[in-house]
Amino acid sequence: MEVAIDKLALSAVGAALLLLLVVLEIQFPQRHYDRSLKGRAYLANLLLFAFNNSIFLAFNISAVYTLVYGYRLLTFFDALPLWGQALLGILLLDFCIWIWHWTNHKVNLLWRFHKVHHSEQYLNATSALRFHIGELLLSVAVKSVVLVVFGVSFWIFILYEMLVTFFAAFHHANIHIPPRIQRALEKVIITPDMHRTHHSSLRDEHDSNYGVIFSWWDRMLHTFDRRQPKHIGLAHTPEKNFWSMLTFPFQNK
Ligand SMILES: [Zn+2]
Repeated sequence: MEVAIDKLALSAVGAALLLLLVVLEIQFPQRHYDRSLKGRAYLANLLLFAFNNSIFLAFNISAVYTLVYGYRLLTFFDALPLWGQALLGILLLDFCIWIWHWTNHKVNLLWRFHKVHHSEQYLNATSALRFHIGELLLSVAVKSVVLVVFGVSFWIFILYEMLVTFFAAFHHANIHIPPRIQRALEKVIITPDMHRTHHSSLRDEHDSNYGVIFSWWDRMLHTFDRRQPKHIGLAHTPEKNFWSMLTFPFQNK
C-alpha cells in the first residue's frame, strides 16, 4: 500500500512538472505553430501515453525489472558508497540508453517503431511520451539485460527512469530559452536546441544528438550537431493521430 501511495505521489509530481513545461511552451514558444496542430499533438500524445500505460499495467510489465534483478551477474555496485552508486549507475545507464537510441536509428526494424516518435511535427514537452508500445517493450528487454549484466543498484535504476522522463520532457519542450543559457547548459545536458536537431526531417541532421540526459556521449562519439532544422518531423509523412501512430510501424512507407 505504501508503494502504491509513493507511486501516486511521484506520478502527481511528474504530471505537475509536465504541465508546467506545457504552460511555459504555450506562453513563451521557441517556434510558432498553428493552434489546432498543437491541440491535436497534445491529444494524440496523451492518448498514446494512456494506452501504453494501460498495457504496462495490465501485463504488469514493470515487474520484469524486479524479477530479472534477482539474476544480476555483477555485484560490485553493492560495494560502492551511495554517491558512487548514484554517479556510476546514472552515467552507465545514460550511456547504455545512448547506444540503444543510436541502434534505433541504424537498424531498419527498430526504426519502424522509433519513427513514430520522430513523426511529431509540433515538438513539445509531451513528445517525450510519444513512443510506440513496440519500442517500449523492446526497451524493457534491453534495460533488463543492462540490469542483469551490470547489477546497477535497483533504486538507482528507478531514479534514472524518473530523471529520464523529466529531462526528456525538458529537451522536447518548445520553450524559448536564450541561446547563451542553452550554450552553458549543453556543456553538461541535452538542451531543447540540441534535441531539435535530432527531430529534423533530414536524415543527415536527425542522425545526431542521441543523448537523453548528458551531452558528453555525443561529443565523445562525434554525433554532436548544432544545426537548426528547417523542418521538424518525417519527410513526406503527414501528421499522425493516435490510431495512425499505432499502425505506422507496419506500413511499408
Ligand atoms: Zn531518435
